[in-house]
Amino acid sequence: MLLETPIGGHATVAGGLAKAGLPYLDRSGSAAVQVYVSNPRGWALAAGDPLQDEAFASGCAERRTVAYVHASLLVNLGSPTPLTVERSVATLEHALGRAAAIGARGVVFHAGSAVDAGHASRAMDQVRDALLPLLDRAAAAGLPKLLVEPSAGGGRSLAARVEDLGPYLAAVERHPWLGVCFDTCHAWAAGHDLSAPGGMAATLDALTATVGADRLWLVHANDSKDTVGSTRDRHESVGRGTIGPAAFAELLAHPAAQGVPVIVETPNDDGAGHSADIALLRSLIPERSSSGRR
Ligand SMILES: [Zn+2]
Repeated sequence: MLLETPIGGHATVAGGLAKAGLPYLDRSGSAAVQVYVSNPRGWALAAGDPLQDEAFASGCAERRTVAYVHASLLVNLGSPTPLTVERSVATLEHALGRAAAIGARGVVFHAGSAVDAGHASRAMDQVRDALLPLLDRAAAAGLPKLLVEPSAGGGRSLAARVEDLGPYLAAVERHPWLGVCFDTCHAWAAGHDLSAPGGMAATLDALTATVGADRLWLVHANDSKDTVGSTRDRHESVGRGTIGPAAFAELLAHPAAQGVPVIVETPNDDGAGHSADIALLRSLIPERSSSGRR
């Protein structure tokens, strides 16, 4: 039996989480949603508005929409700068608390980078030291889970190709509170040829072989403006970029992706753009088998 795959988009929630977020759900037809809970390009940690939080949580529940928080893009647990690591941990703590308040399932953060060649050997130990206590505390308190997202590669990335997730998970002893967010544009940029026939399926096979069958918790479905292996992270509307629609059909048919929520982070978040992305993805879901229906 195929599981339902919730598909939705990253919502811009300027003006209020519920006030802007819930109309976005209805406009775009999202059955899954992702939001920022602080400025994605800054370190300031917004307190949140309890009324908006509650309204957003209940609005998502009414619509059976699964929500995720994306942490600030500045988060880098592998940074050679101690203050950056300290702020990254504080940002993830804050995001976990905010995610709990808005009924979100998890917090996505980027795998990070050692930045300097000289820091590469130290960076994974640093991830372990920063992340393990955070995962333990989140698990003990029953907070939402953390999801690591491999990057587009280049610049001493700690995880870009799916195989890089092996050492990353090993660094935190394959902690049960850490899952994976697979971003198609990042994987393509990091050199996985998703547009070749069978390329997406082979990449997801490699992902599953590395992280296990139950560790893929979220997909970011983004097409790309660049060529495979470019290490550039410029998202394009689904099906309109260099990855192309066939790869997304392969993704949605793959066993590892069954029932895993899919979020688009494509350029148009005014409703119209994401509606088209979401509708296209939905049309690419393989037909359910009718056997046993009557
Ligand atoms: Zn992403």
